Amino acid sequence: MLKGKTAIVTGGTRGIGFAIVKKYLENGANVVLAGSRQESVEKALKQLSAYEGRIMGIWPDLCDPEAVARDFAAVKERFGRVDILANNAGVSSRTSLYEYTLEEFSKIMEINVKAVFVCSQAAARIMKEQGGGVIINTSSMVGEYGQPSGCGYPASKFAVNGLTKSLARELAKDQIRVNAVAPGVTRTDMVAALPQEMVDRISAGIPLGRMGEPLDIANAYLYLASDLASYVTGITLRVDGAAMT
Ligand code: NAD
Repeated sequence: MLKGKTAIVTGGTRGIGFAIVKKYLENGANVVLAGSRQESVEKALKQLSAYEGRIMGIWPDLCDPEAVARDFAAVKERFGRVDILANNAGVSSRTSLYEYTLEEFSKIMEINVKAVFVCSQAAARIMKEQGGGVIINTSSMVGEYGQPSGCGYPASKFAVNGLTKSLARELAKDQIRVNAVAPGVTRTDMVAALPQEMVDRISAGIPLGRMGEPLDIANAYLYLASDLASYVTGITLRVDGAAMT
């Protein structure tokens, strides 16, 4: 479904990001893993050695426009194009408002919102020049419902939804589609940090009766990146088993 296309996946080294990377590779794309550290990127690349020649790693500071532009230019140099940007990197928090520090709030906003802006700008400049592309952001079900602690995280995902809708309208004239995927609770390191009792309670409350797997989310990323979604832009696609909170 993605033969000949080139995709950049931020936070591609583990969890949902790694599942997206594998899904895109299986579907014929060249894939670039953008991680936070050289070490974790190289470790992830080792697991993908079967795709040698179609994979590449970069580790820019995602909030630094110059570093991102430089590394995205290197991707274009290597593969000739940048067709898909999956803005997946993210951090979460459940700190109560009374304990929340400004530093923690800023860290969430930096990686969950500012990095999406910086990476989208750098990718869109390349996509416009080549005649089009696709940007897919990672929202969350808490970007619809909020959550009862860690207010910075849902606030950041509401911002992602806003960026998605606005950029979809702004970039449509350049044939750049912009959508978001809003996962429900998904089995990754982010969830492994929660107490088992809480995970069981959450799973029992999901109408489909289970939490999401990274593959469930990656499938939505494949659809939105592919030509099957050629007339779809500006949406946040919920992939959450109909969870309500
Ligand atoms: P994870 O913690 O397993 O992975 C997060 C990824 O982001 C990692 O690859 C990490 O290296 C990367 N990252 C974090 N800070 C970074 C930085 N400064 N620079 C570059 N990369 C950085 O979590 P996950 O569950 O796979 O989360 C992926 C995305 O899905 C996030 O945006 C998260 O908010 C969203 N999400 C997850 C769930 C869930 O239940 N797991 C639910 C809704 C949304």
